[in-house]
Amino acid sequence: MDFTLTPGQENIRQLTHWLAENEIRPLSLAADRQHHFPDAFLLKLKQMGVTQGATEAEDRPAEVGVRRSKQANRSAVIGAEEMAWGDASLILSLPGPGLGGPPIRLTGTKEQQERFFAPFQREEELHWGAYGLTEPQAGSDVAGLQTTAKKDGHHYVLNGRKCYITNGARADWVVIFATVNPSLGRAGHRAFVVEKGTPGFSVGKLEKKMGLRASETAELVLEDCRVHVDNLLGGESIYEATDGFKTAMKTFDNTRPLVAAMAVGIGRAAYERARDFAKEAYCLARPLPRHALIQALLGKMERRLEAARLLVWRAAAMADLGLPNTKEASMSKAYAAEVAQQVTIDALEVMGAAGNHQDALVEKWFRDVKVYDIFEGTGQIQRIVIAKRLFETIKSF
Ligand SMILES: Cc1cc2nc3c(=O)[nH]c(=O)nc-3n(C[C@H](O)[C@H](O)[C@H](O)COP(=O)(O)OP(=O)(O)OC[C@H]3O[C@@H](n4cnc5c(N)ncnc54)[C@H](O)[C@@H]3O)c2cc1C
Repeated sequence: MDFTLTPGQENIRQLTHWLAENEIRPLSLAADRQHHFPDAFLLKLKQMGVTQGATEAEDRPAEVGVRRSKQANRSAVIGAEEMAWGDASLILSLPGPGLGGPPIRLTGTKEQQERFFAPFQREEELHWGAYGLTEPQAGSDVAGLQTTAKKDGHHYVLNGRKCYITNGARADWVVIFATVNPSLGRAGHRAFVVEKGTPGFSVGKLEKKMGLRASETAELVLEDCRVHVDNLLGGESIYEATDGFKTAMKTFDNTRPLVAAMAVGIGRAAYERARDFAKEAYCLARPLPRHALIQALLGKMERRLEAARLLVWRAAAMADLGLPNTKEASMSKAYAAEVAQQVTIDALEVMGAAGNHQDALVEKWFRDVKVYDIFEGTGQIQRIVIAKRLFETIKSF
């Protein structure tokens, strides 16, 4: 695989880095304290062309004539790393369909894609979509979800509770996963697009988190919420051919490398801050034994980040080529999250008290990065996915 950046990708890298450094970083600490980025700033970014579309592969119906780049996933992970280098909460707060985009793009009918992606084309307005899979009793164990969907004429009646939903409170719609029959397990799962304002659909509490505080995370409540059959993603027929669980999981093959790229971006930010601090504070050119240890630690941080980035780029390149990449996507996510967590700890070690200070971004990055080992499947879950695929390969010999 040739990982030389194309001129277009180099352009994305430079532009997103410039934005991250000059527009996003200066607001980062204030946004963390106020728990949001101002809408005026998000609108300004949107008008500059910076939306989730810039960091996600594609969230428009293929039929509207937009040519899908051959390296859309590669370009997306490059942009995501730079934006997260600026601020990881910001990237999750950008207007756009968010994690709700991939299931609609992957399984929605043409009519559904046109309908649900339409708001994001309006230049002067902020719109969000969201992805509602997690429940209080079903996080990693998504197969055990308890939100029910009962068919009633031309509607489904949804009952249940979703938690930790990114942009859930402000989203125009949320892709909600529910079961038509809990005894069927995964075969009973269905994905519905539930629109804001639908009677019976409400926002519960906003979650208070350790990290990514400027990104909104909400609890959603469904109480006898009637959703028209037209909002069943992909229509009835796709669930006869395959199960809804696959719809939920297919999303992750595209989004896990993207999330892993963000973790690399946070880790790189911490590494660079520690490296620059060490250069100034310790004058590393002078070979004292203590300095050699810090140099070795910085070398290890950079080496591990580079390895994580290569795993991310491989998983994204496989998605671009249409190759099955479940194992590789999980490898990139598991490794990048682990490395980025360790690198932020190492950065705190290099900087000592200066890194622990609340005005030092390293302290914030240390809090932010933990979530990358939790959402989109925890580290353990990625390891289970990898092990499962490993045994499938061994069986086939
Ligand atoms: C900031 C944030 C944003 C989020 N955004 C969204 C969103 O937009 N949409 C959405 O649907 N969800 C979202 N989530 C939820 C997230 O996907 C879940 O938190 C995650 O899947 C883990 O579920 P859990 O928190 O219930 O932990 P649990 O599943 O209860 O896991 C707890 C611990 O047990 C381990 N564990 C669980 N099962 C196993 C097993 N079989 N073997 C070994 N170890 C295991 C886990 O690895 C973990 O360490 C978000 C979460 C956060 C923190």
